[in-house]
Amino acid sequence: MPIPQQLQPIFLQIKAPPHLATTVKGAVTSLFRSVDFTRGPVLEAAVSDTAAGIETTVRLGQDPPWHHFDAEINSPCYNKTDWANRVKERIRLGVKVVLCRAYSIPFSPWGILVGVRPTKLAHRLIDRGFSREQITSLLTDVYAVAESRQELLLDVVEKQRRFFLSDVNNPVSVYVGIPFCPTRCGYCSFAAYPLKTHGHLVGAFLEALHREITVLGQLLQEQGIKVQSVYIGGGTPTAITGSDLSRLLGLLNTCLKADECGEYTVEAGRPETLTPESLEILKAYGVQRICINPQTMNDRTLRLIGRAHTADQTREAFALAEKYRFRQINADLILGLPGEGLADFAYSLDEVLKLNPDHVTIHSLALKKASRFSQNLGRLELEQKLGEEMAQHARKRLGSFGMGPYYLYRQRYIFSDLENVGYAKAGAESVYNIQMMEERQTVIGVGAGAITKLVSPDLKVVRHANPKCPATYARQLAVIIGAKKYQIEQHLSV
Ligand code: SF4
Repeated sequence: MPIPQQLQPIFLQIKAPPHLATTVKGAVTSLFRSVDFTRGPVLEAAVSDTAAGIETTVRLGQDPPWHHFDAEINSPCYNKTDWANRVKERIRLGVKVVLCRAYSIPFSPWGILVGVRPTKLAHRLIDRGFSREQITSLLTDVYAVAESRQELLLDVVEKQRRFFLSDVNNPVSVYVGIPFCPTRCGYCSFAAYPLKTHGHLVGAFLEALHREITVLGQLLQEQGIKVQSVYIGGGTPTAITGSDLSRLLGLLNTCLKADECGEYTVEAGRPETLTPESLEILKAYGVQRICINPQTMNDRTLRLIGRAHTADQTREAFALAEKYRFRQINADLILGLPGEGLADFAYSLDEVLKLNPDHVTIHSLALKKASRFSQNLGRLELEQKLGEEMAQHARKRLGSFGMGPYYLYRQRYIFSDLENVGYAKAGAESVYNIQMMEERQTVIGVGAGAITKLVSPDLKVVRHANPKCPATYARQLAVIIGAKKYQIEQHLSV
């Protein structure tokens, strides 16, 4: 397999005004993994700001230059910050166009939206009163987003608006991180430790987690803050023993009234961890949503990616869960798994839909550094056309099943430069998924790897991350709780 251009080291020298050099470099490194900026052809970026608009030229060596004059930024709906941002956006676009042309790299369907959440950008424009038509034209002209993605993006944000609340700090959502799994999947970059090798850490970890839940639950009660949704993820929370699970859910009900909140989810994740006992416990403690994640319905691929279950176990888990009548069941699938083409993915999707889930999340394989597969980045780059076909197929097939997209996010090193999309039947959208992604509500994270996001009324976000390692988390708990409690109190007192 040839090495795709983006993975080969390239050499470029940057010539740009000093205040824009970082923008140019950032645009280059968003396309190439390894760049040496000390030699090679010169990439030159020049900008001239005039009263009439922004004139940008980007040129690589002797290649024909990319040239653009932006008069639209003069519109009264923009301010000085927009002007400064637009200069950078024009540079990003110019650099991307010039380099994609020179190195024969397919242009991303998301244009220059790298390292930003497309939905957050669209929401900010809606907040400022931009119409759908204006946003569409910005997505085309400034961000170079393909038409198919514009439509997806605007469908998603329009659906999300009704979930936004006027007070970003009351109610809040709560995330609970349980960092244990039966085995570790090859693509996993989460806080997930195989029980076989790390099971001895469970006891101390849960003691620490109980303490954190108790302290933060008390804090929320003192401040009169309600909980809108609770999401227990990880890891695979259902991988711990029944008695540990019961104790944890009982504590969440006492301290956070999880069983009375609007949405209570447990990421069962691995189908093999769902048993009559674990389902009985989830139901008894008021859990409303569960996730059973097949990822693929092809057994060969499941073995290849290190999952210790079969497609039949997914079918059995769904059949079992159906008896408990949870409000919603979600199923995750992944696009771009090793050796899988469109037919394999279409088969998995058809098989999953036979199980009648309420919600399906279509992830695109992302190979982060923390995953075992991270050396295998080549595939991700080579198969843009295939990825597009799979994503289109998913959207069409799920649409015909009565599911629409309602949340999406992108990651770095993602298969075919695609996106992760949550699809739901009407009314089965997850509040937690929206609030967490769009950062329109404070989310308190407890447990290993949990991220707390404190959102201010002006939508600025302050983050606090717990350690991913369960041993470190347990050892540092006193410090973690002290710092987080202080941070939350400060945040709420403003
Ligand atoms: S089940 Fe999820 S959290 Fe666990 S190892 Fe696999 S990808 Fe990671």
